[in-house]
Amino acid sequence: MAATILDGNKISAQIRAEVASEVKTMADAGIRPGLAVVLVGHDPASEIYVRGKVKSCEEVGIYSEKHTPAETISTEELLELVTGLNLRDDIDGILVQLPLPPQVDSKKILMAVDPAKDVDGFHPINVGMLSTQLPGLVPCTPSGVIEILKRSNISISGQEAVVVGRSDIVGKPVAMLLINGNATVTICHSKTHDLPSVCRRADILIAAIGRAGMITRDYVKAGATVIDVGQNKVTDRSEFERLFAGNAKREEAFNAKGFTLVGDVHPEVAQVAGAITPVPGGVGPLTIAMLMSNTVRAARLRRGSGARLSLAC
Ligand code: NDP
Repeated sequence: MAATILDGNKISAQIRAEVASEVKTMADAGIRPGLAVVLVGHDPASEIYVRGKVKSCEEVGIYSEKHTPAETISTEELLELVTGLNLRDDIDGILVQLPLPPQVDSKKILMAVDPAKDVDGFHPINVGMLSTQLPGLVPCTPSGVIEILKRSNISISGQEAVVVGRSDIVGKPVAMLLINGNATVTICHSKTHDLPSVCRRADILIAAIGRAGMITRDYVKAGATVIDVGQNKVTDRSEFERLFAGNAKREEAFNAKGFTLVGDVHPEVAQVAGAITPVPGGVGPLTIAMLMSNTVRAARLRRGSGARLSLAC
């Protein structure tokens, strides 16, 4: 039986509607959450992401502003910008779009963001909050994965979950969220022996690898839930054929654009899995929705409806 398709666009729309209604309630109390996005230089992919973030803010009623320093900015100049945003009361969330140019010390910049305004959830204070289950800000893509599971009524507690990928922005936080949800979690990476057999243990399999269609049907237990975080651009014809041979709709788009967006999970997995997220239209749309949700959460936490996170920095 074909897998149930978990529609990320639909879930993202639900969350954004909830955020919009919360923003309205806050407006009645005279509060308008604000997000500052910092985009250094002109990376085309980053420009698209930032445009999407600003547009989503408008749609849900969050104030947003964009800072676009030149590609040549120094670490010190960028620190000054971040420090200024940290001090502003009308800004609740600060997002520094990655990647930063090579002359900028990215770690120093991310560490300089006030943890109370760290809507990406990358600051070590927020990483610690997540692992100790204190109220902090959780990275957007991992919390989007959990929202997909919860809102699709897929239980986490007691399930075997396998996460492929151990990055600080996806693999590790998603594993931590699954542990906090009482799953039994295995984290895999490039040195894991016999990855297919480890993955076949999973009731919930999360792929966050960055390799187009790597997870084939041999990695998946029949009926498992498969969440595909990967977003890979395939431009090579033979790679396209390996993944989408016979898919006329994809082929038409591939021929027109010269590329197609593919997850880390091979499309054939839909024949084995019980439920699966598509790419595009799965985890991707949740990332911006959770950014909106985090900005509202930061606004509430900073105003005392929860623990204050800020450290002197
Ligand atoms: P990273 O490159 O930081 O991490 C990839 C992880 O995959 C590493 O832990 C690496 O292992 C592991 N890995 C690589 N090759 C293999 C292999 N052959 N077998 C097993 N494990 C392997 O990537 P990210 O976590 O940043 O992103 C992962 C994917 O998610 C990408 O496709 C990215 O584009 C996508 N993404 C999507 C988002 C969305 O909004 N949907 C947001 C963020 C990311 P090791 O540690 O040993 O090197």
